[in-house]
Amino acid sequence: MRPRARVDCPWIAGGTMRSFVFRGPGEVGVVEKPIPRPGPNDAVVLTTAAMVCTSDVHTVRGAIPVRSGVTLGHEAVGTVHALGSAVEGIRVGERVAASGVTPCFQCEFCQRGLSSQCGGRMLGGAKFTVQVDGNLAQYFLVNNAQANLAPIPDALSDHQALYATDMLSTGFVAAEHAELDFGHTVAIFAQGAVGLSATIGCGLRGAGLIIAVESLPERAELARHFGADVVVDHTRCDPVARILELTDGQGVDAAIEALGTPATWEATLRVTKPGGRVSNVGYHGEVSEPLTIPLEAFGYGMSDKQVYGGLNRGGRERLRRIFRLMENGRVDPTRMTTHEFGFDEIERAFSMMAERADGIIKPLIHFG
Ligand SMILES: [Zn+2]
Ligand SMILES: [Zn+2]
Repeated sequence: MRPRARVDCPWIAGGTMRSFVFRGPGEVGVVEKPIPRPGPNDAVVLTTAAMVCTSDVHTVRGAIPVRSGVTLGHEAVGTVHALGSAVEGIRVGERVAASGVTPCFQCEFCQRGLSSQCGGRMLGGAKFTVQVDGNLAQYFLVNNAQANLAPIPDALSDHQALYATDMLSTGFVAAEHAELDFGHTVAIFAQGAVGLSATIGCGLRGAGLIIAVESLPERAELARHFGADVVVDHTRCDPVARILELTDGQGVDAAIEALGTPATWEATLRVTKPGGRVSNVGYHGEVSEPLTIPLEAFGYGMSDKQVYGGLNRGGRERLRRIFRLMENGRVDPTRMTTHEFGFDEIERAFSMMAERADGIIKPLIHFG
């Protein structure tokens, strides 16, 4: 085993790095910050590549409350720069990924199997940006590193590995909460990167009919590429009526909300058959009015429909399982990457994401 970098060495403790930060609603910028030093259970990673997420855009808009000056981002990979004294099984210099959600795996929520809700606060397992500095920076600190860092297999590029950190993990959560069985029917509302990942996840879970709801032609084409059998364009027809028609009037076994709007939320309840599941992964924090439940579609409370709101579960074991799917060729999500930027161009990536400019779906950020 190679010697560990000691955290008390001045040449590791010193130095600054460039970080892309939130300054206030609608305001971002690059600042110099000290390179973080790991506590006993932490690791510091030298960033090699990252991605911007729709939830970063929600944060900049002020829809996810964070402190001014916090580093943005939660989807990054790199090489281990420094390790805390208690971290075992990881080497300095190793290529690693951390999930966008980094639970402690020690609290009561984690011990009950709810690592996504670590600590019991809103977005509990999501530490990056929400609770601590994120990873759109030259270095980033990973809490509880032994449980949260996964070595990246040699067969996978940084680009592929990045998809395991949030998009596939969150899309797969949507499919897991949908409780799909072989041959089940499912409708997925919106085919952004999370919706497309949910489409992949539903295919892997054995769905027999995957209906994607999407109007943008590039996203509709990707939905088909990733396994959708039918794409319903909600600008050309009533998607609820069309989905009921496609399922002989019964509705689907499960509907997935991957956008975060009141209209798509209500539609998921309307297209789900009695006893079916609504699986929500869309973030609803950009709208101030409460979500409503259409009473007739909910059987006035008697429909046996279940509603599940889910978040990425995080952790090394989950990353390793998603890596295995990519290593063996069952999944290659990289076609979702529509644009590439250098670190100095992150602000442009953000504004393009906010404006949905030039058909952007997922931007890849190169470091160095
Ligand atoms: Zn994300
Ligand atoms: Zn926890």
